[in-house]
Amino acid sequence: MIIIMKRGAADSEIQSVSDRVEKLGYASHVIRGVENVVIGAVGDKDKEPLKGLIVMAGVEDIVAVRAPYKLASRNVKPSDTVIEFKNGVKVGGGHFALMAGPCSVETPEQMHLAAVAAKAGGAQFLRGGAYKPRTSPYSFQGLEEEGLKILKNEHDKTGLLTVTELISADSAQLVASYCDVIQIGARNMQNFALLKEIGKLKTPILLKRGLSATLEELLMSAEYIMSQGNYNVMLCERGIRTYEKAYRNTLDLNAVPALQKMTHLPIIADPSHGTGRRDMIIPMSKAAIAAGADGIIVEIHPKPEEAWSDGPQSLTLEEFETLAREIKPFVELMGKKFTVAK
Ligand code: PEP
Ligand code: MN
Repeated sequence: MIIIMKRGAADSEIQSVSDRVEKLGYASHVIRGVENVVIGAVGDKDKEPLKGLIVMAGVEDIVAVRAPYKLASRNVKPSDTVIEFKNGVKVGGGHFALMAGPCSVETPEQMHLAAVAAKAGGAQFLRGGAYKPRTSPYSFQGLEEEGLKILKNEHDKTGLLTVTELISADSAQLVASYCDVIQIGARNMQNFALLKEIGKLKTPILLKRGLSATLEELLMSAEYIMSQGNYNVMLCERGIRTYEKAYRNTLDLNAVPALQKMTHLPIIADPSHGTGRRDMIIPMSKAAIAAGADGIIVEIHPKPEEAWSDGPQSLTLEEFETLAREIKPFVELMGKKFTVAK
């Protein structure tokens, strides 16, 4: 159930309602939208007693949320979630994010060249995996903490916000201490123990859609994170598995407008994993932006032919420069803007 507070409801009224929700045995989530504050009462208790809260000061309405995802639902919070970072960069609600970097952190030189190119193209985020969930146990598994240090070093040098993948709950604190966005990869989208753990952190999350996950399943995974109190979740469409073999995955751009109806969370598209093909990344980036994506994440590498992972889908730094230039009019056409660091 959600309790919609009147416009301009006093903080003391919001607090009293929230306390009452908890007294009734529900978890209370105070969500501040542009228009109203709503209080999500989440739990598996009898709904009846909550209806009595209608008489409390400041309460406008009490409504049931039919979707199984509650906190992620657009019904609960009609206005787009805007995630604001420490340097003033924003994502969502008209603020467009460009995230670029290699699949894996390999060497300080490789990361530095990628970071300089990312920054020159106007990216606000530098990606790079230090823990790699590989299909084969014999493939490169990531530099782990050493990789996090290389990534952080580039953050310190360039000011770019960093995105890196977390694959196990044990290293959640460690990864969070080095990066600005924690990526949960497609293969871990339904690792519920991991989702609960990152829900306790304040670090924004980039949650990638599972290889054959439905949108509802993706949103239920977001719900796992949000139900622990971390509301800063970006969803990522990174391609799904279909029968088509001409490309690695099928970037499901239907998901972008469909998700926008279902949720207020920002939606990022990943045309690199979504296609697996360097030659398709620029056109599919433009298509994702035209479909309404709040950002794109792309893999770039100074020498894709020597990349330790995902070389065939990594853009050269020159190709990235073209991408960065060519997507700008699409972003503008969609009425969005790139926020820059303060
Ligand atoms: C990645 O971002 O390099 C990655 C492994 O992505 P995904 O989880 O979408 O396959
Ligand atoms: Mn990759």
